Amino acid sequence: RPLVIAVDGPSGSGKSSVSREVARRLGLEYLDTGAMYRAATWSVLEAGVDLADQAAVAQAVRDLDLRMGTDPAAPGVHVGSTDVAGPIRETRISSQVSAVATNLEVRAELKRRQRELIEGARDGVRSGVVAEGRDITTVVAPDADVRILLTASEEARLARRARELHGAAEAHHLEATRDQVLRRDRDDATVSSFHVAADGVLQLDSSELDFEQTVQAVLQAIAA
Ligand code: C5P
Repeated sequence: RPLVIAVDGPSGSGKSSVSREVARRLGLEYLDTGAMYRAATWSVLEAGVDLADQAAVAQAVRDLDLRMGTDPAAPGVHVGSTDVAGPIRETRISSQVSAVATNLEVRAELKRRQRELIEGARDGVRSGVVAEGRDITTVVAPDADVRILLTASEEARLARRARELHGAAEAHHLEATRDQVLRRDRDDATVSSFHVAADGVLQLDSSELDFEQTVQAVLQAIAA
């Protein structure tokens, strides 16, 4: 039977890179749901829709021609024929994505699409999917075969995010990143409580683990 692995965690927990690597090693598909919220935000901004206009934002997202690639070796993100994989990582998106992600109609629409993608993976060429985000273990795929909440101390998360953004964990970068990451955590907190594992969800703290050790810990949880 095809496997569904759900991984949630806050920003900087390492859930994206770890989930993608686990999918690659197990020959599963990979679904980055954060990229869907980011692509929705990119598109809404591109269309000049006022983020404060909840109904207009929701309509724009329902109309969104979003194509998610689920090959862990090259998980593309396209809006129409535009490759948005790069642009959705820009700071202007990171700083505004929570405003779109807290729109309940947007969440309902993206949840529907995420479930479709996960169901599709169930009978795709690969034998399942690793789906990651904030509410996969609780809302999108509470029936997943394996559910993991990947956490890390605030310090570890900030250092990782700073390295990701700047290639070096220099002090002044850490400061700028701290504000961004903590603000997004706060803004996202209304979405779901992804700092506490729900019933039946395995909590895995990666603060003291490097990348490979975290991948191994997830693989062990899946094998168990
Ligand atoms: O994982 P990533 O940092 O790329 O997620 C970007 C944003 O998308 C999060 O800050 C959050 O606002 C939103 N998100 C969400 N639910 C998910 C995944 C992401 O609300 N399942």
